[in-house]
Amino acid sequence: MVEQDFDYIGIMETEADTIRKRLKKSKEPSNVLEVVKASLTRMGAFFDTVCKDYDIVLPCKEACPYCCYVRVEVSPPEVFYISNYIHRHFSEKEMSSLLKRIRNSAARARGLTSKQYARARIPCPLLADNKCSIYPARPGTCRILHSRDVDVCKKAYEDAENAEYDPIQNEGLRMGSVAFLVGLKMAFERAKLDSGSYELSQALAVTLTNPKAYTAWLKGKKMFTALPAEEYGEWRRAGWPS
Ligand code: SF4
Repeated sequence: MVEQDFDYIGIMETEADTIRKRLKKSKEPSNVLEVVKASLTRMGAFFDTVCKDYDIVLPCKEACPYCCYVRVEVSPPEVFYISNYIHRHFSEKEMSSLLKRIRNSAARARGLTSKQYARARIPCPLLADNKCSIYPARPGTCRILHSRDVDVCKKAYEDAENAEYDPIQNEGLRMGSVAFLVGLKMAFERAKLDSGSYELSQALAVTLTNPKAYTAWLKGKKMFTALPAEEYGEWRRAGWPS
């Protein structure tokens, strides 16, 4: 298999600059959500183009839950984008059951490192019938994590202690996608908005229950509980700043 070598710094800076220009025009709540959507779409387009150009066929699909038991790190702009999607697509009954799952996951996840989280086998609260219930709005981390061999994912799911996803990922795809996500985070940081990394269920427990959270974040406040001071996930492992 041919591995690619892209200009990752260039992707990251271009993405950060594209978002910076959009944010400079307006930091209106609806514009910010559009900015996030456009960035995730560009990441997806990069992913699809690389797969097409290099004949990479991945077994990953919407209803494959093996990697939905790892800790998902998410930035504030992404979590507000996901919350908005949930508010628009979930019924009252679905929301109430989702909130129960989120509170349960958030309580179990509190203070856990990513390894401890994987060992605890905490399912993502957004999984419903083994399917991602917010697939079009899923965070960047879930878009980045991919596999060339579903059997390895299955083994990692069954044996979380020894789970190792890196060998089954395509390095060019992974690093390029991470560059988009880091560009997004950099742009929000430069706009003086918190763009740190937070655990998904704990962040959603805030955004879905505090109607003032979005405007408070847009005013520059930090709204989420920091991750344990250990390794930051995907981009730190890939050599990027967190
Ligand atoms: S957000 Fe969706 S894709 Fe990501 S871990 Fe949760 S269920 Fe899986």
